[in-house]
Amino acid sequence: QVRTRFAPSPTGYMHVGNLRTALYTWLIARSHGGTFILRIEDTDQSRLVSGAVDVIYRTMAECGLTHDEGPDVGGPVAPYIQSQRRDTYGKYARLLVEKGAAYYCFCEKAESEEDSGDFSRAADPCRSLTAEQVAEKLAQGLPYVIRQKIPTEGSTTFHDAIFGDITVENSTLDDQVLLKRDGLPTYNFANVIDDHLMGITHVVRGSEYLSSAPKYDLLYRSFGWEIPTYVHCSPVMRDAQNKMSKRHGDPSYEDLKAQGYLTEAIVNYVALLGWSPKGDLAEQEIFTLPELVKAFDIAGISKSPAIFDRAKLDHFNAVYLRAMAPEAFAKVAEPYIRQTVKGDFDIAAIAALLQARCERLSDIPEKVDFFDACPDYAIEFFTNKKAKTDPAVCKDMLQAAIPMLESLSTWTVESVHDGLIALAEKLEVKNAKLMWPVRIAAAGKLVTPGGAVEICAILGKDETLRRLRAGLA
Ligand code: GLU
Repeated sequence: QVRTRFAPSPTGYMHVGNLRTALYTWLIARSHGGTFILRIEDTDQSRLVSGAVDVIYRTMAECGLTHDEGPDVGGPVAPYIQSQRRDTYGKYARLLVEKGAAYYCFCEKAESEEDSGDFSRAADPCRSLTAEQVAEKLAQGLPYVIRQKIPTEGSTTFHDAIFGDITVENSTLDDQVLLKRDGLPTYNFANVIDDHLMGITHVVRGSEYLSSAPKYDLLYRSFGWEIPTYVHCSPVMRDAQNKMSKRHGDPSYEDLKAQGYLTEAIVNYVALLGWSPKGDLAEQEIFTLPELVKAFDIAGISKSPAIFDRAKLDHFNAVYLRAMAPEAFAKVAEPYIRQTVKGDFDIAAIAALLQARCERLSDIPEKVDFFDACPDYAIEFFTNKKAKTDPAVCKDMLQAAIPMLESLSTWTVESVHDGLIALAEKLEVKNAKLMWPVRIAAAGKLVTPGGAVEICAILGKDETLRRLRAGLA
């Protein structure tokens, strides 16, 4: 029975790398018919951010990564919040001391030093304290930490599903702190205890934890516990040299949402950041979540770092936007359209112009700003080689178009279209020669979603004529 967990520290946002870890972890559980657990790792009390846990719940729910066990839904191995499991860690730390695999350390050191791992065990007199000496110090009430007692000789080999067998010399490992002075466990200890007690079969996480893995293995062995399958994923990079980082301005999941990407597109793109399908599906890029469940396998996870490619995400987003039902697209596009279009226009008609023409929803406001206010435009806009127009030709065209449009008794896409086409025929000019000035005068922009006909239809008769007359002046 496969059991996986996503174990975020509540930081207040979801990194792209975190989202990918959550997704792969969820996919491993779902593709094996297993159980997916959400565990909140909040033992670093100095870094708690209020509301941060809500961000995690919200993101997971939005992305469809439902959990079977977790703080909000409970489960057989509750509690699922580390700060509520405090007593458990102390108990296991002391058990390790009894087994000779950990020791009390009474040295005066800053908390930060305890966590940084640069502690030299050769210099630590506590490692060789006798049981009586320890009992005496404990009786005096001296503050202490509990450290892992790493063997001084030999080497440790552990296995990772992505990176294979890795062997390290024990002399290179530090006697890391397991239990801090405040009685709370370090991340490295709580993780092992919880993964074991929660019956986790596959530990999926970022490769930044790879260097700690031998110490985890030593802990499992000291307890006599079965070691789970490690799946360490390479980082998501901004470019060839740098990891993505919120601190350096790289977007989190929330940022991407705010920038107008669809959740489905983000999830699909993130799935392929370091994983690729095999066999028949090797060329496929677009996957729904259920399709990912079918296609996913650990063997497809890559060892090399993945580069976050904004252009590729844009492409995915455009594909998803295009695939939406027109009504659904209009619904998600409306708030963006309304950012610049306050007037009484047919929003569904504007949305229809945009659906095939935007990569991100946040592209929309700027594309449709001309509906409300026709900006001043330059006379050069009336020159277009392909449409064989220049300002003088345009003037002639507008002069002919205005009375024709005025005479239309109905104002629809069809009537405007038929009227302009018939006029071009009558004037014996190519359609483009007439359409170009009409579109430029109506929109005041070189680049518009939709052509002259659609724009005029949405603007309405009065506003179209007003703008065309202004274009003549
Ligand atoms: N709390 C850790 C983090 O957010 C989890 C690492 C793990 O999954 O083991 O990075």
